[in-house]
Amino acid sequence: MQFYKDGFRGGSPDIKPAAPNRRNRGINEPLPEKVDVLIAGTGPAGLCLAAQLAQFPEIETMIIERMPTNIIKGKADGINTRTMEMFQAFGFADKVKRETYWVNQTAFWMPDPQNPDHIKRAGRVQDVADDSSEMPHILINQARLHELFLEVMQNSPSRLAPDYSWEVVTLTVDPTTDDHPVTVTLKDSSGVNWGSTRTVRANYVVGCDGAHSSVRKAIGGVLHGDAAHQAWGVMDILANTDFPDVRQKCLISSAKEGNVLILPREGGYVFRMYVELDKLRPDEKAAQRKFTQEDMIAAANRIIHPYSLDVKEVVWWSIYDIGHSLTDKFDDVGEADDRNPRVFVAGDACHTHSPKAGQGMNVSMQDTFNLGWKLIHVLQGRADPKLLRSYTQERLTEAKRLVDTDHKWSRVMSEPTTQAERDGTEEPRIIRQFKDNLEFTGGTAVKYDASYLFAVSAHQALATGEEIGRRFHSAPVVRLSDAKQMQLGHVAQADARWRIYAFAGKADSSNAGSAIHQLANWLETNPNSPVVKHTHQDEDIDAVIDVRFVFQQTFDQLAYENMKSLLKPLTGSLGLQDHGKVFCVDHKGLGDVYDMRGIDRDKGCLIVVRPDQYVAHVLPLDGREELSAYFAGVLL
Ligand SMILES: Cc1cc2nc3c(=O)[nH]c(=O)nc-3n(C[C@H](O)[C@H](O)[C@H](O)COP(=O)(O)OP(=O)(O)OC[C@H]3O[C@@H](n4cnc5c(N)ncnc54)[C@H](O)[C@@H]3O)c2cc1C
Repeated sequence: MQFYKDGFRGGSPDIKPAAPNRRNRGINEPLPEKVDVLIAGTGPAGLCLAAQLAQFPEIETMIIERMPTNIIKGKADGINTRTMEMFQAFGFADKVKRETYWVNQTAFWMPDPQNPDHIKRAGRVQDVADDSSEMPHILINQARLHELFLEVMQNSPSRLAPDYSWEVVTLTVDPTTDDHPVTVTLKDSSGVNWGSTRTVRANYVVGCDGAHSSVRKAIGGVLHGDAAHQAWGVMDILANTDFPDVRQKCLISSAKEGNVLILPREGGYVFRMYVELDKLRPDEKAAQRKFTQEDMIAAANRIIHPYSLDVKEVVWWSIYDIGHSLTDKFDDVGEADDRNPRVFVAGDACHTHSPKAGQGMNVSMQDTFNLGWKLIHVLQGRADPKLLRSYTQERLTEAKRLVDTDHKWSRVMSEPTTQAERDGTEEPRIIRQFKDNLEFTGGTAVKYDASYLFAVSAHQALATGEEIGRRFHSAPVVRLSDAKQMQLGHVAQADARWRIYAFAGKADSSNAGSAIHQLANWLETNPNSPVVKHTHQDEDIDAVIDVRFVFQQTFDQLAYENMKSLLKPLTGSLGLQDHGKVFCVDHKGLGDVYDMRGIDRDKGCLIVVRPDQYVAHVLPLDGREELSAYFAGVLL
């Protein structure tokens, strides 16, 4: 963590200096008439977007929520490794790691072949494959996650906070103007003036307003999907049980009573159970059956027989039926329309699925992590608004994959076991499918298609483990200036900046005339360099593109004093030297980043990474024209 760049300030470094002229958010203050971005909904999707925009006080952001406060319990709880990598960029991954339950193993229980009325452990699977991510898969109460985002917003220069008790009723877009073309009608949904309406004009509106999204409906989006006609219950409980794996994630299938999923939770005592209840008629909704908590507890006890549950407290519970659905409209422009979008939908507003694969919160936040930097670039005038069209292209494809995979997973979970599986002569299909899905459920399988944002590169072989279109896969390194062991990927913050990682070839120690020396010189001074071209003269040299360098030597074999100025640039209002740009291989046994990520040792390479941490290009160290051309296609 770096701070005091612009001068020493006491207190928590997490609290950024407040920007002057920010909106006064007192409870008696009127709503603004115009904003740059209006976000509807304070679920994970909306908060993840607001936390990014909040860092830019020059962008007037408003986030509204129809409820009067943050939720306090319930809803989703699974955070996959990819989302944890994203939390690192927001600065709260360590806090999350400290408080949460880590899913290390998943256990599978099936009917005992000798006595099918009893369940028996059929196998265990390591939940996060070695080196698939440096982060754990964790479980946490969704309300707590909201608090962490709210804290980031509150500590940001704009001191952004939600406007609670306001609901989007509808909106219209005026395609003839660029001056706040979206007019949004808001209704006071639980305040003293309940039912009264206001209008706010916005440059962009993002509907993160859940499955019944008013924003989606206003742009003509419809959720298409199907239902499995199966009622499920979910309960967060404090209970005692003789079931031995209660502190492991478990998938339990009984012979005749249905399935249960156990998710141990933060704090060591509470756990969640998803309990299969009755089949529903095609025309029936789970809510119509009026299931109670007692029904759910009784069903759970039948399924885990011969073990039993003694429930002391039901913290939260809900009944639902599985449905999968997807909207074809992630923004307000159709494919044939050459207008750039003004309205977007994200999260459950555009895709819903079964909660049991634990994807709901994750995919919702990944949607708005994809959109956030694009909105920031456009509103800062760094990119053409056509950049915003890529949101739908990238996220719709991902959402389709999510719904398809979730469909298959739900089917496998509800399928009866075969005789061979029960005899133990064949690995149960559910375990096989779980192993096959690990990358998907970890969120690391996402691969965006080639586009002007993801280059078709002839140089992928220079970094075989950092595939273009996939997230930058972090690895251990040592920071040269202070020999600190750290993860290379953790230099990335949720700050809408691009990163270029320059990996030096063998024997290159940035000595005069070496490839790194020449590259640093060119990047810093040449008019064709993307760093020079896309950074304003009054900005820090790394304000838009942050270049980091990695060497193959260990830290004691390199001469920091001989490095070019781009490797230790002077930044901030005091022009202080930045000592965090240069890294070398780990010398204490955690692994060699070159081997771990397939970096060409002889030639080295350049890896261009988008602000949302996806690899955009892989190039040779002297691939200057291609590098310039790539950035010229994206940035103004
Ligand atoms: C009751 C319930 C139980 C769930 N249980 C689970 C579970 O057990 N496991 C799991 O993985 N997932 C569960 N989910 C799903 C999971 O919570 C979502 O996938 C995830 O929260 C999606 O995030 P989101 O930000 O897209 O939407 P949401 O979290 O749904 O947030 C949408 C927000 O928008 C607000 N809003 C709605 N309409 C408007 C409007 N017109 N104007 C302003 N604000 C509006 C809502 O009040 C809400 O705060 C559950 C969802 C619900 C609703």
